[in-house]
Amino acid sequence: MRAQLLTQAGRPLAAAELPEPRPGPGQLLISVKACAVCRTDLHILDGELSDPKLPLVPGHEIVGTVVEQGPDAERFAIGDRVGVPWLGWTCGVCEYCRSGRENLCDGARFTGYQIDGGYAELTVADQRYCFAIPASFGDVEAAPLLCAGLIGYRTLRLAGQGERIGIYGFGAAAHIVAQVARHQGRQVFAFTRPGDRAAQEFAGSLGAVWAGGSDEQPPEPLDAALIFAPVGALVPAALAATRKGGTVVCGGIHMSDIPSFPYRLLWEERVVRSVANLTRQDAEEFLALAPAAGISTATVSYPLAAANRALADLRNGALQGAAVLVP
Ligand SMILES: [Zn+2]
Ligand SMILES: [Zn+2]
Repeated sequence: MRAQLLTQAGRPLAAAELPEPRPGPGQLLISVKACAVCRTDLHILDGELSDPKLPLVPGHEIVGTVVEQGPDAERFAIGDRVGVPWLGWTCGVCEYCRSGRENLCDGARFTGYQIDGGYAELTVADQRYCFAIPASFGDVEAAPLLCAGLIGYRTLRLAGQGERIGIYGFGAAAHIVAQVARHQGRQVFAFTRPGDRAAQEFAGSLGAVWAGGSDEQPPEPLDAALIFAPVGALVPAALAATRKGGTVVCGGIHMSDIPSFPYRLLWEERVVRSVANLTRQDAEEFLALAPAAGISTATVSYPLAAANRALADLRNGALQGAAVLVP
């Protein structure tokens, strides 16, 4: 099968012809129809996440159809369309798994990081971590739901019930979360790179009541802020824009260092927290909500062979919404 392969951090992906993977017990062989490109993929390529299997097929926002069932893998039928997210395996026995927090599992393994992912024609996944995809979404349209959507959804959930939600970094996750927040009757305030008029207009088109640069103050204090850009300096900026008792949630897996800031920005019971990974329950909830909320995704498709170009466009902020690879 054709795949895009990471052989060493810091190097571009290389086109490769690999043997077809075989499904083991409880696993599905999946024909990949679309795989979205996530900022986490850039962090892996750049060596900012230091523990990938190598060589690695990246990609953890996979939509495909089941072409073969491994032994005892009958949860989905041949031909069923499934999605494969970042969470690829958990131990089921550690303290976190036993307390409904499998996203923090001590032994968790992740798709496109420790398990070969979807930058390929075929992939193998543990059926317990695969999900049915709502019929109203096309393959390409659905791919960004698998990480941008569902980890974005978890990020919004952990922000609490506040009405005025600030979103810093208006990329793939933000463009989905903004629609969820609006569906829930909340107001979205979008913060982009200073001067990025295109991103601000994009946010406005998705219902943001205000859009401006991350160096600006919103017209009203925020109840909560979500940070999707990997920029530590946004943490004090978001705290400064957030009202008493508000929460700032960091939704990414990697961020540059957070600069020191005066205690008064945190004072008055403001909270800073991160979001790590997802649980299967997050995925079930979000994939049920997405069609009900009328979520639509903005995507830019690339052929699999153009994976490096898609990654470069994401890095350079050259696209609105999500890049999706199509084998
Ligand atoms: Zn565990
Ligand atoms: Zn991701």
